[in-house]
Amino acid sequence: GDHAARVPVSGKDEVARLGHAFNDMAESIQRHDFQRKAMVSDVAHELRTPLANIKGYLVASEDGVVPLDQSLVTSLLEETGLLEHLVADLQDLALADAGMLRLHPASRDLSEVVQQVVSAHGPAAETAGVSLTASVAGPCLAMVDSARIRQALGNLVSNAIRYTPPGGQVIVGVRQVDGGYNLTVTDNGAGIAADHLPHVFDRFYRAEHSRSRTTGGSGLGLAITKHLAEAHGGRITVTSRLGSGSTFTIWIPGAAKLSP
Ligand code: ADP
Repeated sequence: GDHAARVPVSGKDEVARLGHAFNDMAESIQRHDFQRKAMVSDVAHELRTPLANIKGYLVASEDGVVPLDQSLVTSLLEETGLLEHLVADLQDLALADAGMLRLHPASRDLSEVVQQVVSAHGPAAETAGVSLTASVAGPCLAMVDSARIRQALGNLVSNAIRYTPPGGQVIVGVRQVDGGYNLTVTDNGAGIAADHLPHVFDRFYRAEHSRSRTTGGSGLGLAITKHLAEAHGGRITVTSRLGSGSTFTIWIPGAAKLSP
């Protein structure tokens, strides 16, 4: 049923404490069940859009309304790419939920990782008319799963590019801080309103539905990025101002202690 079982509790003895514990647990199970149901419905919704587009293209082609040419193939590839991305994101979240998102850590130079991410997103930035640059100063060695750090930073960079208008600027940086490193992605784009800010790391959350829909994200990127930061023993934070831009910061522990 939809109602969690509760036991009536009175008094302050052991039995009452047990009763409270039971009620808390029942509430938590009910909350998770609600979230799981909401998630399945969100997933279904996200899958429907690219599938409907693919079907639309194919039906139009079969009816002879549009020719089965290169541009149609490009559109179909784009939509299947969205599906592929969404399924990969869902798989990562499922692994994270099951506590099975395994890292393969090795000693890496985070400055190099930043450079790689900037190179990989160069073409997308160029297409969007956004300048994308790295801000690094010397080697920053840390024990990380570099593929997962690239994924986390890549999510932030692709958001920064998508939510920044042409002529804007995105800077990816790394610097040593107390006990570790800050990896930052700063843009001077749309920004996020204060009341949306606490929710941007929630699954499927979008600060502004109509705008985000057309920019083609899954609404899962930041949730995954947060998981990846925490899997490294780190954390992610954001500061933003609507209309002026955002800075996302991933803190990764493990800087070598600087000698005085
Ligand atoms: P999406 O796929 O919708 O981008 P994300 O989880 O990556 O999903 O981001 C969640 C929401 O946070 C976005 O829909 C957008 O509203 C907001 N957001 C994320 N990054 C930025 C940014 N750099 N500038 C403005 N808004 C952002």
